[in-house]
Amino acid sequence: MAKLTALGFRNVHVEPFEAEAWVRGDERAEVISPFPQPLHVLGLGRSASTPKGGVEGEIALFGSLDDLMALPPGALAGKIAVVSQPMTRTMDGAGYGAVNRNRTQGPAEAARRGAVAYLVRSLSTDDTRLPHTGAMRQATDAPAIPAAALSVPDAQLLERMVARGQPVRLRLALNSRSVSKAPAWNVVGEMPGRERPDEVIVVGGHLDSWDPGTGAIDDGAGVAITTAAAKLAGEGGPRRTIRIVLWGAEELDDSGEAFAAAHKGEVGKIVVAAESDTGPGPIWQARLPKGSRDHPAMKAFVAALAPMKVVVSREPAQAGGADIAEIVALGAPSVNLLPDATRYFDLHHSADDTLDKIDPRDLAQSVAVWASFLLTVADSDIDFRALAAQ
Ligand code: ZN
Ligand code: ZN
Repeated sequence: MAKLTALGFRNVHVEPFEAEAWVRGDERAEVISPFPQPLHVLGLGRSASTPKGGVEGEIALFGSLDDLMALPPGALAGKIAVVSQPMTRTMDGAGYGAVNRNRTQGPAEAARRGAVAYLVRSLSTDDTRLPHTGAMRQATDAPAIPAAALSVPDAQLLERMVARGQPVRLRLALNSRSVSKAPAWNVVGEMPGRERPDEVIVVGGHLDSWDPGTGAIDDGAGVAITTAAAKLAGEGGPRRTIRIVLWGAEELDDSGEAFAAAHKGEVGKIVVAAESDTGPGPIWQARLPKGSRDHPAMKAFVAALAPMKVVVSREPAQAGGADIAEIVALGAPSVNLLPDATRYFDLHHSADDTLDKIDPRDLAQSVAVWASFLLTVADSDIDFRALAAQ
């Protein structure tokens, strides 16, 4: 709030809500046989704790979650299930989408089949021994089990041990606690519109991040980019209102829902919504709201993009970001300004998510792209809903 106020935003306030919280405790994992070796793990958000003294068991290794799901209930009784699917490095982050359910849904699928614990190869493109955490969902129809991410080299180590043909036994101790109703906040500020203040452009990033790193790339970068762009585009007094929202609980998926619940009645007045949550950039692709390419305002925006090496996709924008998904589902148009995510998943949700990884030139290019979009839309009368309906 102090920073937004100092930057000249108006109507700065917090919107409190109750969120789920999960607090990491001591974590330890090791191979017992065929030969002893410590494993580098990070518990997943919402993981259960192991019983006192940890769990010990033989692993059942799968190359994909589909292979695990092909087994009948009970088939993994007493086992520690491991899914070791690698992630593909891509510019648009599609590699993450392809393996995301291994982390989010894998533990529940393993629990339904009787597993006592679950390990997932980190959703990561790096080769360091740092694991990458993230949220999981517990099954509602099976016991809550402990679940953790393995570093990429550790997942590969287990694959080679299994390939020897002998049973691989692990010991795993994970401790954590959950708080069902913790206080959380979305922080909001505005550059009020001078002509049509009730027409609102909603942009932002999320303030929460995973505990091992500082959250510089996920999502400090998104907070910085959208805040700077909203200031640049809004400080001269735009015709429409530019609202910055710094969501407070993206990682456990609570802040988008809270924002939508608080602003349900206003969704019809949201001109467009966008979230920056894939790192510092540079931005390489823009996906415009459906049907808007030929509108003069979007032609002006595309012209501004040309020297910044941004390509405009023929594909229309998709929902774009967990925090705006709910308002987009309620009918708010969205735009996607996609950062180059080639390196993002080397760092994401790991101890390596730190500020030194960010090149200020990338941030500056991203701010320029966002500011161009915000200024163009805030000073135009473009109606994305009407264009999409044509
Ligand atoms: Zn994020
Ligand atoms: Zn994240």
